[in-house]
Amino acid sequence: MAEPIETDYAESMANDDDCVVCDTLVVGVGGMGSAALWQLARRGVKAIGLERWDIPHAYGSSHGISRIIRLPYYEDPAYVPLLRRAYELWREIEAATGRELLVTTGSVDASPDDDPLFNGALASARLHDLEHEVLSGGEVNARFPGYALPIAHRAVFQPAGGLIASERAIVAHVEAAQALGAKVRAREPMLHWEAHRGGVQVTTSKAVYRAERLILTTGAWIGEHAAPLAGRSIPERQVLAWLQPHTPELFGPARFPVFNLQVEEGRYYGLPIYDVPGFKFGRYHHRAETAGAIDALSREPDSIDEALLRGFAERYFPRGAGATLALRACLFTNTADEHFIVDHHPKHANVVLASPCSGHGYKFCSVMGEILADLATGSGETRHDIDFLRLQRPALAA
Ligand SMILES: Cc1cc2nc3c(=O)[nH]c(=O)nc-3n(C[C@H](O)[C@H](O)[C@H](O)COP(=O)(O)OP(=O)(O)OC[C@H]3O[C@@H](n4cnc5c(N)ncnc54)[C@H](O)[C@@H]3O)c2cc1C
Repeated sequence: MAEPIETDYAESMANDDDCVVCDTLVVGVGGMGSAALWQLARRGVKAIGLERWDIPHAYGSSHGISRIIRLPYYEDPAYVPLLRRAYELWREIEAATGRELLVTTGSVDASPDDDPLFNGALASARLHDLEHEVLSGGEVNARFPGYALPIAHRAVFQPAGGLIASERAIVAHVEAAQALGAKVRAREPMLHWEAHRGGVQVTTSKAVYRAERLILTTGAWIGEHAAPLAGRSIPERQVLAWLQPHTPELFGPARFPVFNLQVEEGRYYGLPIYDVPGFKFGRYHHRAETAGAIDALSREPDSIDEALLRGFAERYFPRGAGATLALRACLFTNTADEHFIVDHHPKHANVVLASPCSGHGYKFCSVMGEILADLATGSGETRHDIDFLRLQRPALAA
């Protein structure tokens, strides 16, 4: 989909009678978009969410039951203030809907002691005075017997880590937004959008919508919808595995913290049994499969995916490496520095863009919803420090 050229408002906008009109349109009702809708609705903004597939669905970046949330952020300590607010908002949406969304398990960030994973997590914990313990791999294994880490590994254990029920959270945000008057229309892909000083117009497969502002949260597809993100947000195929533990009692949320783990085979992450009977894990940048066209990325896991993931579990989580219960393909969308992009469109102040966050964004959806609503209402400012996530940063220069 080509991005529109700015044209004269009066010439190109449809007549009011032919349009559905609201204050703000949110296109893409996945993790980020659903949270933005709730935050808009809480402020009394008349908002409509447009979704190409279902609420929720398994073609984007948020499916697969659960996602890790953790506080000591090895990627960059600048995320920690956003995470503190994310935790608060996850609890608020739980309270608003009565649904369990955030389950505390503790988190383990483990690697050889000269690796940025352990060192970044520790630096982040110290800088932000986060409760934590430094453990050896052997100490992790003794405390959490589902693990079999290399004993000389170094780990940061943080008690507040846990999981977010990601698909359920989309449903919760949509439900809460609808209860406050927001409208959601699924199975209605956006075909085209245009923006002018006086407003925005979105054409879908079913209708034409007009609003003052537009939030684009189209996930892996955002590079097709916003020229400034084309080539700067690269979709990548990932595969998740769920295996039947030989000793399931060691792999429940009470005894199995979520983890990020650097080993010689690569960087992996994992979560306890939750909602489905398997121990869940995946490898960052799985088989490094990227493609210009998203549809060229296979959504069907194969025997190579399975062998790669099983090999890891058999070595580092042998008590969890029983029969395969499920495999699921999903999409990362990466920027050059693996940080998010959240900003106004450089040409259209009334259009806000959010990238799908380089494989580590789900935990932030709650606070991203708030930030997106800030950027799309009032003065368009946010109290959150997102300077390091702006579009104009050296790492994203063409
Ligand atoms: C395997 C895997 C594991 C991950 N693990 C973690 C983790 O442990 N912790 C963590 O924090 N993050 C994790 N992430 C990253 C996180 O899941 C993503 O950052 C997050 O889901 C992105 O949310 P989103 O709203 O941008 O994308 P989505 O939830 O995919 O939403 C985008 C939506 O836009 C819709 N859309 C697209 N085009 C159109 C159109 N033309 N019209 C209307 N709608 C459209 C799509 O259908 C979709 O519903 C993981 C990602 C993957 C793939």
